[in-house]
Amino acid sequence: MSDSTDLSELHWLLAIVQSIDVGVVVLDREYRIDVWNTFMENRSGRLPEEARQKSFFELFPEVDEQWFRRKVENVATLGTPSFTIWEQRPYLLRFKNYQPITGLEDFMYQNTTLMPLKGLSGRIEQICLIIYDVTDVATNRRQLQAANQELQRLSSTDRLTGLFNRGHWEEMLRQDYARHCRYERNAALVMFDIDHFKKINDTYGHQAGDAVIQQTAELIRQCMRDADISGRYGGEEFVVLLPDTDCEGAMTFAERLRLTIEAHEVVYEGHSIRFTVSLGIADLSQPTSGYPQLIERADSALYMSKSAGRNRVTVYR
Ligand code: GH3
Ligand code: MG
Ligand code: MG
Repeated sequence: MSDSTDLSELHWLLAIVQSIDVGVVVLDREYRIDVWNTFMENRSGRLPEEARQKSFFELFPEVDEQWFRRKVENVATLGTPSFTIWEQRPYLLRFKNYQPITGLEDFMYQNTTLMPLKGLSGRIEQICLIIYDVTDVATNRRQLQAANQELQRLSSTDRLTGLFNRGHWEEMLRQDYARHCRYERNAALVMFDIDHFKKINDTYGHQAGDAVIQQTAELIRQCMRDADISGRYGGEEFVVLLPDTDCEGAMTFAERLRLTIEAHEVVYEGHSIRFTVSLGIADLSQPTSGYPQLIERADSALYMSKSAGRNRVTVYR
């Protein structure tokens, strides 16, 4: 091969490196920049002559130096390429994303390849970074994930109250029950129903009834702990699962909830509506055949509260 073919080959190779739509940076073993292509020039706003021979870490203070050095040293020692992907590290270099979609990050997501480059001596004298703009892929994926999450949320919550709906709540109970069996941990179930709710509907209208249901859910949220799992079981029937709680603990919670509800006033179209609830408690200290039996027991305790005069708590015995 003649010198002139060598040279022309070099010429078009350089032209490709320059015009290719990925970032190409070549670093020497002191982390100084040897090569800086057009992509890098455009995205960083620095001309090649501004970047050349500059320290990589000075140009990009956002790079975690310790991590990056370790990565590069591995590439140089092993002589094999290495990669970073956006799922693990959203970007290597913080570049602006020029097609920001509302609600998404304004930086460019990147995948990066680190490649060892051998000199004429056969030793690895440089490291080539190839930086891919994967913002489109990342934002699509993130939007899809967000949509799926929202779909999941919608299918598991009750529209009126924002509590878990019956199906989802029962699924949570099923899982917690399985955990209980595996680790022999207790859990208590509080079930309650609004007293004389038909009368509220009949006196003030269905909308007022809805407001009562909504505010009851709000009062549950105020009374319960983060680990507790509440749901709307039926029309004006609610459930709260209290993990790692015995009957006594559940009793304390149920009494607090009962008193909070009793003291609460729903104001609807100028009317003051007061109401009470009847509650039933069952826990797993007694042998149970499965989680449906826990529901049955709490329900029968609730029924006892109703027949004993309402606005009270009963523990299943
Ligand atoms: P009790 O003290 O025995 O519980 O009497 P109650 O009147 O509350 O009786 P029951 O629990 O059987 O009544 C439930 C009523 O709740 C019947 C139904 O019309 C009404 N309801 C069910 N879901 C909704 C809802 O989403 N909104 C409204 N406003 N009413 C509902
Ligand atoms: Mg009722
Ligand atoms: Mg009812």
